[in-house]
Amino acid sequence: MTINNTLFFKPATSIMHLVLILIFFTLSVKSTLMAQNFERLRNDMVEKQLKNRGIQSKVVLDAMRAVPRHLFVPHNIQNYAYHDSPLPIGLEQTISQPYIVAFMTEQLHPVPGMKILEIGTGSGYQAAILAQLGCEVYTIELLEELAVGAEKVLTELNFNNVSVKCGNGYAGWPDEAPFDAIIVTAAPEKIPEALIEQLKEGGKMIIPVGPVHAVQSLKLITKKGRRITEEELLLVRFVPMVE
Ligand code: SAH
Repeated sequence: MTINNTLFFKPATSIMHLVLILIFFTLSVKSTLMAQNFERLRNDMVEKQLKNRGIQSKVVLDAMRAVPRHLFVPHNIQNYAYHDSPLPIGLEQTISQPYIVAFMTEQLHPVPGMKILEIGTGSGYQAAILAQLGCEVYTIELLEELAVGAEKVLTELNFNNVSVKCGNGYAGWPDEAPFDAIIVTAAPEKIPEALIEQLKEGGKMIIPVGPVHAVQSLKLITKKGRRITEEELLLVRFVPMVE
């Protein structure tokens, strides 16, 4: 009886093992090829969209090369993740164009350990770029579904230096203030007072300011004593910062 069982089951078991090994092998080859393809697209993005347009910071370029942007966009549009454009991330919100992410990041001169507040977590991609640069990132998102999604992908990618909070960015994050820098990725009509208060002396804030669904001015604010200085950098189009 024992012998019969052995004779009967062994070939079937080995065929099943073989099929499983083949499936596993095919899937892992497929995912390696896809990862290599995305890596190539990322390198092209850095060369053509960022370096060619004047992004110079080596650390920022390295971070843009390292963070897998395709994991921050919906699955069905992953192939467009490295295009030179913003993309929809659901709930009428967008992930910014790679150039804008790199440009805004470079303006803050991020260094490891810098404490940065982001308003408008969205997909979590901008937060991931800052975290990749070694900053301590605090990010606020109004829409719970996006906050939860961003936190999930950031955790899966082991970014332990990002804290995500669902809330209204107009109030900032008083418990964690002051911040070395603030980055706002939705556009208010005027600069929120609480954010200026929560900026460290000498700290910088980059923020698009202007009317809803129109062209806005991307401003670099520097806090000096009780005064602020404003520099206009670019004309941009961000989703509105909702009151
Ligand atoms: N930085 C994001 C893109 C931001 S899109 C990324 O890398 O993907 C702008 C985001 O700001 C949207 O997700 C929107 O829901 C959010 N937002 C709008 N008004 C807000 C507010 N008052 N407080 C916090 N987040 C806000």
